[in-house]
Amino acid sequence: MPFGHDMVYSLATVVELINTATGDHDGLTDIDDLRTFVRSRRISGVGAVTVRDLTEVRTLRTDFHDIFTSSDRVSVVTRLNKLLGRTRITPRLTEHDGFSLHVHYFAPGASLAEHLAAECGVALAHVLAENEWERLRKCRAPDCDNVFVDESRNRSRVYCDSRTCGNRMHVAAYRARRRPESGQGKKRQALG
Ligand SMILES: [Zn+2]
Ligand SMILES: [Zn+2]
Repeated sequence: MPFGHDMVYSLATVVELINTATGDHDGLTDIDDLRTFVRSRRISGVGAVTVRDLTEVRTLRTDFHDIFTSSDRVSVVTRLNKLLGRTRITPRLTEHDGFSLHVHYFAPGASLAEHLAAECGVALAHVLAENEWERLRKCRAPDCDNVFVDESRNRSRVYCDSRTCGNRMHVAAYRARRRPESGQGKKRQALG
């Protein structure tokens, strides 16, 4: 992908945020969940998180989900512009916590949701600007709603995770091929 490391990191963050909602249970239901998310994604400059942060981040999660799963480019652009339009964005160079010089986009004093909207929103805007929006995908496994960013060179990735969904789907396809009643040819064969 023609994207820098910071952008790829922000894209991974937005994917992780959206996917907290796609499993059997919601992974973002209380303050502890939110704290865990902030820690695991190493989101900088976040003070104590509150119930209000939780509500705002959950709303933002829905907005990002809708952007990811939009069926055409026009609606992705419209939705993302709407999100960016209501977010205060202040680009500035920083080298905190031992990281090399990089650009932050969230405004000084931003809430956690604003912070995520700015960083992840700008990263997604670059994906769109590079005409790469088709890399924003939903997993093809029928029982999985996870989203992912396809970073493969030939844009060929279809599963959120090749070890879980990819492997599961390949096993299912293999079993379907082996089952005698699954194909006409094999059925005739089985009947002798
Ligand atoms: Zn940073
Ligand atoms: Zn999946």
